[in-house]
Amino acid sequence: MAFVSNSLLKKGSFCPKTPELPAFVERQDRRPWRNTAEITMPDCFLDRVVIKISLMFYHVKELQFDARVSKPDPAFATLLLEQFGGANGELAAALRYFGQAFAARKPFPDKYDLLMDIATEEFSHLEIVGATIQMLLQGINGDLKRAADESEIMALLDGKKAKEEFIHQALVAPQTLVSSGGGPAYTNSQGVPWSAAYINGDCNGDLTVDLRSDIAAESRAKITYEYLLQFTDDPYVKQTLNFLMTREVAHFQMFEAALESIQPNFPPGVRQSDPRYSNLYFNMSSGADIRGPWNEGESSQLGETWQFIDDPVRYVMETNGLTNLEPNGTPRTVKGVDKLDKEMSETRSEEVNMAVPIGEQAWSQHSIDQMESPAKGTKKRNSRSNE
Ligand code: MN
Ligand code: MN
Repeated sequence: MAFVSNSLLKKGSFCPKTPELPAFVERQDRRPWRNTAEITMPDCFLDRVVIKISLMFYHVKELQFDARVSKPDPAFATLLLEQFGGANGELAAALRYFGQAFAARKPFPDKYDLLMDIATEEFSHLEIVGATIQMLLQGINGDLKRAADESEIMALLDGKKAKEEFIHQALVAPQTLVSSGGGPAYTNSQGVPWSAAYINGDCNGDLTVDLRSDIAAESRAKITYEYLLQFTDDPYVKQTLNFLMTREVAHFQMFEAALESIQPNFPPGVRQSDPRYSNLYFNMSSGADIRGPWNEGESSQLGETWQFIDDPVRYVMETNGLTNLEPNGTPRTVKGVDKLDKEMSETRSEEVNMAVPIGEQAWSQHSIDQMESPAKGTKKRNSRSNE
């Protein structure tokens, strides 16, 4: 497990009874944290272990999954960079959810917990991918260090075939071998540096929008692992990729469930949509027109009847550029939508304002506790200073 977020710790999932994380508790038993505010570790065979720490992240030098490789493979290491510093890779995933969590925290503390848990897990995936790349590059770094004798690197390789193989791999993996000299770099498999532009649009400040981005992002991460699996024969690497791919499938469903738990969640944001235009399907191309649930029957979210506009040019002319239109195939009215817009504005703004009262602000729970109960806070401070 690479990083452990505070929210994960609070759940007390670190009892040795929890088979997936035994190393964590064993380590803590041997060497308690430094810089901790308070650690309460009752009998580990109780169901609940209360751990309070003052650190946001704590690094445990064990991987979440037992990643191994059979032999070096610089070419596949380069492909795997796609999941290290690529657009749909683990760094992007970790930072996406980490960034989204800030705006979610006050109005949706339950989703904050989810986003931080998954962000933290994605950091541990990043660690697994980095470790795997490093293992796949075993020996390369050492060879490159023989800089004093240029021919040495080739002399090290036994025979013509090995030499040609090395040159081939250097050609297909130039960035890895030349820039980083045998370690994972924050680039994709083409050597393009990681960019925050990959994820900035995903931190939207509206949780229903963010969660939809997350569902799409998990789909892309899943399919990237699926593609990668076709380019390695290493059974250990396959096991690791299978684990990582499967976790994205799990995350997909978590985000879907989180979105479903926010109601109403469609359309995203506050403003409803204009019932004059929400169920129109414009037949914008000629020949072989296909009808399907996207342009006939009921629309999926608003339950309106799709209106198939067979001749859009004529329709636009006849309606004076779509301004002389009455809603059709929907019980919604322009007036009703106006009213709903106002109601939704009030409800959503109240939700957020209630969650974030004006005045002094604190982020950490211990500080919030002290603000809410100054007497208790003073007592706490005193007892600490007496220690
Ligand atoms: Mn992941
Ligand atoms: Mn994921």
